[in-house]
Amino acid sequence: MGTSYKYKCDECGFEEEYFVGGRLMTKDYKKRTEEAEEELRSAALYGKYGESIRQLVKNERDKIYINCDTELYQCMDCRQFSVQIAKEMFMNRKEFTMSVEFRHECPSCHSSMLRKTRGSITFCPKCKMFTARLVTMGKFE
Ligand SMILES: [Zn+2]
Ligand SMILES: [Zn+2]
Repeated sequence: MGTSYKYKCDECGFEEEYFVGGRLMTKDYKKRTEEAEEELRSAALYGKYGESIRQLVKNERDKIYINCDTELYQCMDCRQFSVQIAKEMFMNRKEFTMSVEFRHECPSCHSSMLRKTRGSITFCPKCKMFTARLVTMGKFE
């Protein structure tokens, strides 16, 4: 099951729909997700994200949940939308819940991207005005 987001800009006519998630959609998708999860786990174990993350992944292996589903991101600089594989790690313990999301780089300008989870109005990737509206958001099987 996944989600679709359709954005429209009244200013310049930009209109586009993005599909994210869909873990059960195809075997390929599931395989790709699992590969990405394994990749993130090994990178963390090699210390790519620093010593404290490395220790956590090493010592709390069973309690760590990795999310590598696709999500919709938007560049903070050039405002391009991009569907990317999330790189997120959670750990649930009695005392606290830890959540780490690793930086995503914009494919066009290499700035940082933010996940679009909130807000129905955003910057338009085409005219860069704060006029792009989320017009539909749907679930699909
Ligand atoms: Zn960018
Ligand atoms: Zn626009």
